[in-house]
Parts: sequence; C-alpha cells; structure tokens
Amino acid sequence: MPELDRPLLVVVDHVDGHLTTPSAEVLTLARSLTTGGVSAVALEAPDTAALGRHGVGVVYVPELDGLSPTVSAVAAEAVLAAVAQARPAAVLLVSSFAGKEVAARLAVALDSGAVVDATGITAEDGALVASKVVLQGTWETACEVTRGVPVIAVKPTVVEATAVDGAEPETVAVPVDFSAAARAVRVLSRTEHPRGGRAPLGEARTVVVGGRGVEGDFSLVTELADEIGAAVGATRVATDEGWIEHAAQVGQTGVTISPRLYIGIGVSGAIHHTAGMQAAQTIVAVNSDPEAPIFEMADLGIVGDLNDVLPQAIEELRRLRG
Ligand SMILES: Cc1cc2nc3c(=O)[nH]c(=O)nc-3n(C[C@H](O)[C@H](O)[C@H](O)COP(=O)(O)OP(=O)(O)OC[C@H]3O[C@@H](n4cnc5c(N)ncnc54)[C@H](O)[C@@H]3O)c2cc1C
Repeated sequence: MPELDRPLLVVVDHVDGHLTTPSAEVLTLARSLTTGGVSAVALEAPDTAALGRHGVGVVYVPELDGLSPTVSAVAAEAVLAAVAQARPAAVLLVSSFAGKEVAARLAVALDSGAVVDATGITAEDGALVASKVVLQGTWETACEVTRGVPVIAVKPTVVEATAVDGAEPETVAVPVDFSAAARAVRVLSRTEHPRGGRAPLGEARTVVVGGRGVEGDFSLVTELADEIGAAVGATRVATDEGWIEHAAQVGQTGVTISPRLYIGIGVSGAIHHTAGMQAAQTIVAVNSDPEAPIFEMADLGIVGDLNDVLPQAIEELRRLRG
C-alpha cells in the first residue's frame, strides 16, 4: 500500500499531441506511491484522454505567452507556477536531457533538492526515497531530499506503464510571470533528425551499440537492431569518426540510456562509455578480445569477430520467427 497521502505532480511530455510512454511510466509510478492523487503539468496542449487513462485528476496548463517550453528556463518557471497552485508533496518528471535540466532549475527555485536518473522510487515513512545506480553499475544508492518539495527525475523504461479506468482530468490554466532570463531566448525552428522509424535512444527498451570494432560499417548493427526493434547507439569513437551521427553517442558526454537490453558490438567498455549505460538491466557484449573490460559487466559475453557472430545471430532470429 502507498504510504504517502499527499498529491504528486508529474511533468508530462507530449510528442505530436500524444502523451509519451516515459511520461505514462512516471504517472504509473506516481499512482503506486500515493493515495493523495496524481496531477500533471503539461507544457503544451494536453492529451487529456491519455492523462485520464493514467489516473491524472487535474492537469495544470501554464500560459506560455508564446515562449517555447524547449527552453529550460521557460519550462522550469512554468512548472514552478503549477507547483505553487498544486502544492504537491513532490514533483516527478522524466530523466531526459531536458527533464534533468528542468529538475535542477526547479530544485534551486524551490530551495529543495533534485535526484536525477532515478531507477525507482518508494514511499517510506511519508517520504519519497529514490534509488539510482552509480559508479559503473557497481552500487545502488537510496536518496531522499530532506527539505522542501523534492524533485525526482525517473529514467525511462524502469517501470511498465499501465492504464486505469479514469475519467478525463480537470484542466486548470496557470498564469506565469516569466523572468527576463526566460524571455531572453527565442526558438526559431526545430527539426527532428530522421531515426528510420526506430525508438528514441534515451527511451528505447533495447539498444544495439556499435563501437570501433565495426570499423566504419554500421550495417550489421542496424540490421540486428531492426530485427529486434531496437534503437541504434554508438561509442564516441564511432561518432567522432563520422560513422554515425553524434546524437547516437552513448556515454558520459553523450546520451544516458537505461534499456532492458543493451547489446554492445565491438565496444571495449571504457568508463566514459559505461557511465552512460550502467543502468541497463541486461548487458550482452560481442567482442573479439576475451580481455575486453565490457565482459566484466556483461551478463552474456560472446568472444568472436562481429562479422561472424552477427550474421549468425540475425539468421537465427529470422529462423525462430519463421
Ligand atoms: C572526457 C571524455 C569523455 C568521453 N565520453 C565518451 C562517451 O560519452 N561515450 C563513449 O563511448 N566514449 C567516450 N569517451 C571515449 C572513451 O574513453 C573510449 O575511448 C571509447 O568509449 C572507446 O570506444 P570503443 O569501445 O568503440 O573503442 P575501443 O576502446 O577501441 O574498443 C574497440 C573494441 O572493439 C573490439 N573489436 C575490434 N574488432 C572487432 C571485431 N571485428 N569483432 C568484435 N570486436 C572487435 C576490440 O577488441 C575492442 O575491445 C570519452 C573520452 C573522454 C576523454
């Protein structure tokens, strides 16, 4: 049974007018933590039907005055105005690049604290305790924000989104008095790079990553990824060499991922890379060097040349599918 009886406020994201899966996951987690109800704050026209299905009672919609919520200062000030109205026990959001930046700004403005990259939250003695994996996946930590309204950013895919039989939420408009800093940036255009129909890297349940071992040819990596419905990632070596776009870089200076399944192909397992994938639930590595560091953290290691291993794996997958 949830131990919290105060409401939680979830910052929800939309793509093309639809509630995103990571936001639905955070709403599911929020519902499991409190009996006090779950509200949402939407920085664009809310998908009220989906929000109702995920148990949202009230959705706060800040009035953005033409400003873009992709600017973190705008988003943080808009959420802050919703927090003032909703008076939640805590604010939860998705631990994406943008979500983490908003979380940090929000915690400073609220004079509280933020936990980002959380892999779970429990309610204990009326407080929220967030867990996160650190130090290359070797430690699991439990963190509690001990003052003010905690802000917790939850990694995608750590819970399964489930729907309830809920009515459409009440929509409440929230006026916002934006600062000069928030008004200082005007977004002129936004163009999403084509992903070939694959899931966004940061949200994908399965990711196939190619490293230097692919020697410039990502075709087997993408073939395997498409066969199992995975996103494609890369090490910094591969992106620096221009073998694949920079947005695909996983690691300390790239995207942080937390998939259910990570498959590293020709990846050595350098600390700057593993810092970005240590929260993966199952790690599979294909590497021709039996001493490669990635085997120390892999659940399944295959010692072999990727040019031999991958065609066989792809063929077997196709055979199993019939
Ligand atoms: C400040 C800083 C930040 C960084 N940030 C990042 C980051 O965000 N992300 C990141 O990835 N890196 C980052 N790096 C770089 C990082 O330190 C490593 O250099 C990089 O991750 C190594 O990439 P790799 O595993 O592809 O290459 P390598 O370390 O060269 O490993 C290639 C592996 O492929 C194997 N191999 C070769 N041929 C085959 C074959 N035919 N079949 C199977 N296996 C084969 C080899 O045995 C080897 O283990 C950063 C570095 C610095 C200094």
